[in-house]
Amino acid sequence: MTKIIIAGSGNAALCAGIAALENGAEVLMLEKADAALAGGNTKYTAGAMRFAYGSGDDLLPLLKDPDDPRLARTDFGGYTRDTFAKDLLGFNDGRPLGPEQRTLIDQSYDTMAWLASHQVRFEPIYSRQSFEKEGRFVFWGGLTLAADNEGVGLFDQELAAFERLGGTIRYSAAVTDLIVDAGRVCGVRTGSGETLTADAVILACGGFEASAELRQQHIGPDWDKAKVRGTPHNTGDGLVMAARLGAQEYGFYGGCHATPMDLHMAEYGNLDLPPGERKNYRKICYFLGVMLNARGARFVDEGINFRNYTYAQFGAAIMQQPGHFAWQVFDAKVLDLLYGEYHFHDAHYVEADTLDALIPLLDGVDQDAAHQTLLAYNAAVDDTTPFDPTVLDGKATQGLALAKSNWAQKLDQGPFRAYPVTGGITFTYGGLKVDDAGAVLDQGDAAIPGLYACGELVGGVFYNGYPGGSGLTSGAVFGRRAGTGAATAATRG
Ligand SMILES: Cc1cc2nc3c(=O)[nH]c(=O)nc-3n(C[C@H](O)[C@H](O)[C@H](O)COP(=O)(O)OP(=O)(O)OC[C@H]3O[C@@H](n4cnc5c(N)ncnc54)[C@H](O)[C@@H]3O)c2cc1C
Repeated sequence: MTKIIIAGSGNAALCAGIAALENGAEVLMLEKADAALAGGNTKYTAGAMRFAYGSGDDLLPLLKDPDDPRLARTDFGGYTRDTFAKDLLGFNDGRPLGPEQRTLIDQSYDTMAWLASHQVRFEPIYSRQSFEKEGRFVFWGGLTLAADNEGVGLFDQELAAFERLGGTIRYSAAVTDLIVDAGRVCGVRTGSGETLTADAVILACGGFEASAELRQQHIGPDWDKAKVRGTPHNTGDGLVMAARLGAQEYGFYGGCHATPMDLHMAEYGNLDLPPGERKNYRKICYFLGVMLNARGARFVDEGINFRNYTYAQFGAAIMQQPGHFAWQVFDAKVLDLLYGEYHFHDAHYVEADTLDALIPLLDGVDQDAAHQTLLAYNAAVDDTTPFDPTVLDGKATQGLALAKSNWAQKLDQGPFRAYPVTGGITFTYGGLKVDDAGAVLDQGDAAIPGLYACGELVGGVFYNGYPGGSGLTSGAVFGRRAGTGAATAATRG
């Protein structure tokens, strides 16, 4: 029987494992973390997955509870392949849609249906992706479903499917080396010095977001100071091991997915929080207020687009500010609209009845400049256009050098609140080049025999940004492809 070893146990690894088992292989998964932290960044996610679909009817076969009474008054809209393509192109800095991006789009729905066929089930993301409007739940950004019980639920359901099919997983078993014989990858060495043989090895061991050294090397000198939103274990091991075999670096190494995070969070994400609270150090409701840096200035158009299209870039924007921090300022009108993460018991914020009283509480900020900025902002708000967070409402500032293009309401009702934030890295975009079967390519574009990659390790999928929920879909699409490719190629010999 064909033997496959997979490094990693996140969503990409598990999808690769399920696909390889379906194709008749014997699969051993080796995970660097212990059982508690197995599942990598996948476990830290909200389990939200973006995919192309025609209408709400396409979602029904994916749902855990297709009889949920809320469905009758829910408008999911549609999310076409063209819209998905447009969303990705929006972050490509003028690059055309790449082959990996096309694959992601084209296989997104089919892969969701495949997961559902393995009893991985999903729920509508009512709390963060819809607003109630005239008695109906209106989804606003094309991102509609998340795995039952978020990322932990996705991991549990995928692991159960993997084990049902006969897959085996070992924890605290880091892959440290790839073994090559006669030009073919034929096994791995682990941290304990053990040598394990296989017909093919699939690298599904994440990006380099948890390596301060690699972040500095690829993204920029200040990036050692970023918080890491997820696992401490994704330290670029797969990239380093593949590079030793001449693999081609591919995709965008100079950027990453990074979001505004509570300035006072720990250095890494916290899986000990209960489900529903794991994302609570994230702070992405800036579109309902303004952000000020240490100079007391705004530095992004907080309302330039729906937050699904800005949150992955604004972490980097904060990292570029002096001291790598900012304050998000809101007034009482929007406090009820702020996501649960702002009401988390460990959320850091300051509050005052007036803006004048709030400004001195903004630690590290030039108070006079902040005062001027907020006065100018309030004076520039267009009072005639109604505020509507379910659409790009066009309620913009007028005449500011840096506009706020939507949802610009005056900050004029106390109490006022401000939350200190910094940049937290989610995952990296630069990876390896793989072919249509998931095989890793060398610098001459030839497949390295026996070596496959998927998940965060696949380059060319994301460039200068990311439409929320695409990372897990990418892991599933390319994981399934690598598992199928490795099992079928190895079987053919
Ligand atoms: C806080 C947070 C929230 C997110 N929310 C979402 C979301 O809602 N939707 C979405 O689409 N994306 C989200 N993402 C991004 C998403 O997590 C990633 O795109 C996805 O999990 C990557 O899957 P993966 O399998 O490639 O990596 P991971 O899930 O990180 O798995 C990699 C695994 O490899 C292991 N590993 C590392 N080195 C080795 C080694 N040498 N040997 C063996 N094992 C090793 C790690 O321990 C880890 O378990 C989020 C990320 C974070 C951090």
